[in-house]
Amino acid sequence: MTNVQQNLEQIQQRMQSACERANRKLKDVTLIAVTKEVSATRANEVIENGILHLGENRPEGLQKKLDAISNDVQWHYIGTLQTRKVKSVINHINFLHSLDRISLADEIEKRATSTKDCFVQVNVSQEESKHGLAFDEVEAFIEQLKNYERIRIIGLMTMAPNTEDETIIHDVFRRLKQLQSKIASKQIANAPCTELSMGMSGDYEIAIEEGATFIRIGTALVGKEREGIV
Ligand SMILES: *Cc1c(COP(=O)(O)O)cnc(C)c1O
Repeated sequence: MTNVQQNLEQIQQRMQSACERANRKLKDVTLIAVTKEVSATRANEVIENGILHLGENRPEGLQKKLDAISNDVQWHYIGTLQTRKVKSVINHINFLHSLDRISLADEIEKRATSTKDCFVQVNVSQEESKHGLAFDEVEAFIEQLKNYERIRIIGLMTMAPNTEDETIIHDVFRRLKQLQSKIASKQIANAPCTELSMGMSGDYEIAIEEGATFIRIGTALVGKEREGIV
């Protein structure tokens, strides 16, 4: 039996400790509850506990939660977004974490009714199973988006490689932080690039130590429920 409140307390304690180790403030790290594998009922439990940032990775899952959740929630889309699905998703979300190609940017520019806060997804670890731009492609990609009025690049997003080796995970997150700082220093009008979306259930403390400002936590917070999968 998953106890969301208990899980949350433990996560917040660990977030606090990680912040202390890195000399950072807890308020500078936003916890996104990833509800993709649980029901709307459990998502509502998260909201009752004061977490108002929710993440989904499929249009169907997002719609299901939108229908069942009335609170003032900030919605994060954290999965690969197919171009043909942009129309049904983009105006329901506040943040897109998976911008990774020009064709997607073009479709957002066409369909979004207001400027959308986006993270560019970067495949730092070069794992074939993972989406995202190669590290070396990111700067040119963001330059290319300069004149897109409906896109604001607020930061970079990555997923850590599947490894137990914490040194490698630290290294991946540190490299993303360096790239984010470099892009921020260019002061591109629609790319402030001040944020870092990195860290999941297994590695969020490392991510915070390396500068994450948004962490995306699913299983450690809400567990997994079969009926939640759509
Ligand atoms: C599922 C998912 C998460 C959450 O993963 P957990 O390990 O369950 O915390 C975070 N980010 C992305 C992109 C995901 O797809």
